[in-house]
Amino acid sequence: MRRILVVEDEPNLAAGLEMNLSAEGYEVVIAQDGISGLEMFNKIEFDLAILDIMLPGMDGISLCKEIRKSSHLPIIFLTARDGDKDKIQGLSVGADDYITKPFNLEELLHRIASVFRRISWQGAKEEKSDIIRFGDCHLDMQTLEVSGPGGATTISRKEAQVVKYLYERRGQTVSRDSLLDGVWGYNAFPSTRTVDNFILRLRKIFEKDPSKPTVIKSIRGVGYRFDSGDS
Ligand code: CA
Repeated sequence: MRRILVVEDEPNLAAGLEMNLSAEGYEVVIAQDGISGLEMFNKIEFDLAILDIMLPGMDGISLCKEIRKSSHLPIIFLTARDGDKDKIQGLSVGADDYITKPFNLEELLHRIASVFRRISWQGAKEEKSDIIRFGDCHLDMQTLEVSGPGGATTISRKEAQVVKYLYERRGQTVSRDSLLDGVWGYNAFPSTRTVDNFILRLRKIFEKDPSKPTVIKSIRGVGYRFDSGDS
């Protein structure tokens, strides 16, 4: 069971989060101020932390910094105002995401699930080999060197992540949104058009005829499907 630390000083909100996250199957530990949040973090193993920013004693930003000294624990901030400054500050101290109060539960659950998906994908990435091969193509995730019918070159880290994301889901239709979510993260600035431009560049390397793709196929109105030719 995944365990979530919730640090929130507003009792009703804390109780509501405890009830709803528990109902979703998460184990929830509540702390009502930053200091006790830090104590909980040091005492118990967590999978995710949800931190309010305005907290008595130690605020959420300072708590996040403390946690980051020793841990990559995923952190979602609850921000009180829709202030961009808060958000940018939150992300620059190492939070994974933020959500602005008042928020609805569905949205928070989506953010949590999205953070967990990203982690399991990154975890899987680290376990496997760093070289992806399909057809006459290869991609080295370390050096970012690629080769294919379009020749040999190096690509950007993001382009490599796009290939890897699609490759790991080969045979499945992947929507542009899930690709954005999986590669760029929830706070993605790029648009779905950015995704399309990435795909166009990748096809020039991996496709025999980029105008008639057989490796990264377009699924009209949805997204893409990777066909490695070996399935
Ligand atoms: Ca508060």
